[in-house]
Amino acid sequence: MTLERIATKVRGGERVTVAEALDLYRHASTPLLGRLADGIRARLHPDRVVSYIVDRNVNYTNVCVARCNFCAFYREVGSSEGYVLGFDEIFRKIDETIAVGGVQLLLQGGHNPDLPLTWYEDLFRAIKTRYPDFKLHALSPPEVIHLSRLSQLPVPAIIEKLMAAGLDSIPGGGAEILVDRVRKHLHCDGKATSDEWLDVMRHAHRAGLRTTATMMYGTVETDEERLEHLLRLRALQDETGGFTAFITWSYQPDHTELSGTEATGVDYLRTLAIARIVLDNFDNLQASWVTQGGKVGQLSLAYGANDMGSVMIEENVVRAAGASYCMDEAEIVRNIEDAGFIAKRRNMHYEILGDPMFRQREVPRMLELATAREAGDTSIPVELHGYPARSRAGKRSRDGAATDVQEGK
Ligand code: SF4
Repeated sequence: MTLERIATKVRGGERVTVAEALDLYRHASTPLLGRLADGIRARLHPDRVVSYIVDRNVNYTNVCVARCNFCAFYREVGSSEGYVLGFDEIFRKIDETIAVGGVQLLLQGGHNPDLPLTWYEDLFRAIKTRYPDFKLHALSPPEVIHLSRLSQLPVPAIIEKLMAAGLDSIPGGGAEILVDRVRKHLHCDGKATSDEWLDVMRHAHRAGLRTTATMMYGTVETDEERLEHLLRLRALQDETGGFTAFITWSYQPDHTELSGTEATGVDYLRTLAIARIVLDNFDNLQASWVTQGGKVGQLSLAYGANDMGSVMIEENVVRAAGASYCMDEAEIVRNIEDAGFIAKRRNMHYEILGDPMFRQREVPRMLELATAREAGDTSIPVELHGYPARSRAGKRSRDGAATDVQEGK
């Protein structure tokens, strides 16, 4: 089929096959891809509203046994740079989030063998007791699998327990590329194979949770494998309808074992556009300004995105790999409005909450994203020694912490 005939199919709202998608992705001009994706965005969101959420990315621990080779964020068990946030630290972050109009935490972290399931349940319950309306968008599928293995319980039981403790939705992290050949290269097939990642989402959707879906591209995958990833998401969405949105970002190579170079902004826009075309059963596509910066983030709105993602407030993972863009609510809204759209705040379910918060009350400007902790702060939260550690290093440090507490240090 010629490119023009495929383009006519897309304009007519027909689903494209993998071969047609590959043809478009490889051979269509960037403006054509943009126009096709923008046409779908306009059909799905004719009111010209571009949404965003005020929330905070909190990484509760950087200790991780998964050791993905594209990750600059994790520290090994026993590392002097490893940390676990205390409940009080997380409460403080929630207070700061609420102060700028935030409605949820995006809570994710490393696969820390010294945090048992009860730690998560207690944390979620404590948050919901203090902040009943505040939402927990927490624990990506590999973290759920990690907890399943750690506690010897099946994934549906873990989801049920986390929901009972206060889990509201699951972020789509850890998908990278849902092709096992790629996952093996990235050393992330151990944390979750493609099927396992999809299966957590399937169980979550069946349990009534909404989730997002993601794709990190630009490592070792081929064009065909990027499309296979998208098609696997499309198939699960046909089955469950549980995904609220899709977010793609480029691999950030600095300080990683894998190293390499970062994909270009043009590659990002083309990938976003083809995702908008293939994922015809997804209502929302986010722009990834945190990896691309504000200008490409704004351009994303002409390449299929209808959402500017999160104000974020805090970010640790992408920053560790070299990217440090920051946009507060005023800056996000400026980018949306300068592109000719109407900016609205939303929640995780993409329900509109209202106009920009900073136009309703004074919100402090934020010129830099916060970090998990001050550099060099490796203090051990007091409640941690109430939970059994599994690793030798974890046991040693908790015993030390317990002794310190007893001795009033
Ligand atoms: S990407 Fe996540 S699971 Fe992989 S090493 Fe980093 S923190 Fe661990």
